[in-house]
Amino acid sequence: MGSLTIKIFDNLYEQLVATKKLSDNLILGFFSFFGPFFINVLNLYNEENIKKLITPSGRYIMRVEEKEKGRHHNCFVKSNHCDCPSFAFNFIEFDKQIWCKHLIAAKIALATGQFSIKAISDYEYSEVFQHTFIK
Ligand SMILES: [Zn+2]
Repeated sequence: MGSLTIKIFDNLYEQLVATKKLSDNLILGFFSFFGPFFINVLNLYNEENIKKLITPSGRYIMRVEEKEKGRHHNCFVKSNHCDCPSFAFNFIEFDKQIWCKHLIAAKIALATGQFSIKAISDYEYSEVFQHTFIK
């Protein structure tokens, strides 16, 4: 994705951060940006199944549950990375879309504060980090 498309997303995201609310206008904005793909994001976000796993040192992982599929994915939001196969296929290898639905849902949840919190140890964080980045 080029820098113009990133700017369009950033503009919508800044509005979201400022208002902390996913308003109808913002939903429309994201929908015109992402297309029907954004419905998948909304489905994840609406189920309130996003957890922020925080370590004592303040590092965090956003964990997005897909309950109907009985699995979850871990997103490292600051480095724009998710451990799902879709992310690896679409983003890293082919650059078809800027991020996967988990990463976008996690970003929206962070901006609006709609997530639950779970404490994890620094060791657990390292385990997930290794599993995600060193395969
Ligand atoms: Zn993902």
